[in-house]
Parts: sequence; C-alpha cells; structure tokens
Amino acid sequence: MGLIVVLIGMTLRYMPRTKPQEIKPQSSGSIVWDDVAGVDEAKAELREVVDFMRDPKRFKRLGAKVPKGILLHGPPGTGKTLLAKAVAHESNARFFAQSASSFVEMFAGLGAARIRRLFRVARKQAPAIIFIDELDAVGATRGKDISGEKDQTLNQLLVEMDGFESADNIVVVAASNLLDKLDPALLRPGRFDRQIFVSPPDLAGRQDILRVHSRDKPLGGVDLEMVARQTSGLAGADLANICNEAAIFAGRSLRDVVLMQDFEAALERVVAGMQSRRVINDHEKRVIAYHEAGHACAR
Ligand code: ADP
Repeated sequence: MGLIVVLIGMTLRYMPRTKPQEIKPQSSGSIVWDDVAGVDEAKAELREVVDFMRDPKRFKRLGAKVPKGILLHGPPGTGKTLLAKAVAHESNARFFAQSASSFVEMFAGLGAARIRRLFRVARKQAPAIIFIDELDAVGATRGKDISGEKDQTLNQLLVEMDGFESADNIVVVAASNLLDKLDPALLRPGRFDRQIFVSPPDLAGRQDILRVHSRDKPLGGVDLEMVARQTSGLAGADLANICNEAAIFAGRSLRDVVLMQDFEAALERVVAGMQSRRVINDHEKRVIAYHEAGHACAR
C-alpha cells in the first residue's frame, strides 16, 4: 500500500506540468513600413488592412466585408514576421504573437484551450493583430496525427475564426512556409481567404534591404548594388546578417567605418556558412540513410 502511494506521488511529481501560459500583447518593436524592404507587393496588400483597422467605419458604411485572416507564405527569413509587426504598429493595434508549434502539447485538448484563451484576450484588447507563426505545425491536412491533438487545435482555430465578427476589429495574420501542405479548410472564405506570397527579394529589393540594415552603420564607399548582385537567392534575414557581420569585421580591424572589404569578408562567411550547412559528406549521407530507414521501419 505504502509503495503504491509513493509511486502515485512520484508520478504526479514528475508529470510534465502545464503552466497556465500568460498571454500578453507584445511590443511590435516599433517596426514601421520603411523597415521592411523589397516586398512591395505584400506591403501594398497589407496597407489595405491597415486602412481598415484605422478606420473600420468607412468600410462598414459601404457594406464591405473586411478580411479576417491573412496568410503570408514564402521561404523563411523573407520578412513575414516583420510585415505582421509593421501592420500592427501602423494600425495602432495590439500585437499578439504565438507560434503554432507552441499550441501542440502532449495532452490532447490543451492546444485548443490555448487558442481559445488567445482569442479571448485579444478580443478584450482590440484592435488587435493575432500573429500565428509556423501555421503548418497545426494546419497540416487533418486526420494524419494519431493523438488528434493537432486536429483539435486546428478545429478550435477554425471555430474561433468563424466566430468573430469583423466588428471585433481583430485580424489574424498567419505565416507558413508552404501553402500546399495546409488544410484546405483554412483557406476557405471567411478564414485565411487572403493569401499573400512573400517572395525572396530581387536585385533592387536586396539593395533596399541592405540599405535598411546599414542605415545605422557608417559606410565608407560601399557599393551596396555590388553586394546585392553577389547575393542572388538570399533572403532578407541573410542580408541583415551580412550587414551585421561586415560591421563586426570593421570593428575587429579597429576602424570607424565599414568598408567594401568588410562586406566581402562578411559575404564569404555567410555564403560559405550556408554551403557548409548544405553539403554533407558520404559518411553523413550513410548515417542519415540508416536513420531515416529506422523511421520507415517504425511506421
Ligand atoms: P520570416 O518571418 O519570413 O521567417 P522574419 O520577418 O522573422 O522572417 O525576418 C527575420 C529578420 O530578417 C528580420 O528581423 C529582419 O531583420 C530581416 N529581414 C527579413 N526580411 C526583411 C525585409 N524584407 N526587409 C528588411 N529586413 C528583413
């Protein structure tokens, strides 16, 4: 009997606890439109949302239905989070950000409860932008997970989105890397019916992004167009990284200005770093093959 009591006590003690998570509006970091560069089309579409959040009556008078959900999709690091923050800041709305992966918990039903709470808190503090990052974590096609936790979470999200009226002055912005993996139910009218592709920047876009990220750095004759030409295929996050690395190189050489040679060195480091991440040798390939085969057998 004593043993059983001890066992139960220990189980309770070591069971993962789920702390009630506090949901507070985050500061959008004062991100303004000008901080986001090279994604002009996405910005133009999101400007409409800002107009609505600033003056909802103007649109309602005309009987216009206002978007409830906007899905930003595109490769990582292209500025989706940044755009959502800019929308919140420009429209004086509160910014609530959660990653969808944080909804998925061990215990079924917990994710759904979290979604419910998130919407409840946001509704109280409207106007608000709810930003859900990595939507694919819950939004993948339903019926594929065994525990049903993801499905429940996704269902709750759909319920919440159907439940709020545009009068609530809440807009849900979600980000996802892949559109075609998402459950089609999410993309229906009244849900994430606006999909905006956030593309990797082109040459002019890259130059603009480099300009944004070197605004606060004293440059000595750096040809940003040249740097932009050498960075095709890189996303905004990589470019931000290059600007920062260049400033670090300059600092290490005890100079007061950042020179072209610092950018060259930064480019080499960032691009080479990316290559070494991608290239794997034969031994690693073999190890990965065994590892993946293990997954396949476990199914
Ligand atoms: P995503 O959400 O698409 O993965 P983020 O918005 O989190 O990308 O971008 C990460 C960082 O990269 C930003 O904080 C910013 O410093 C930089 N960045 C990315 N895209 C842009 C952009 N279009 N303009 C300016 N900076 C950018």
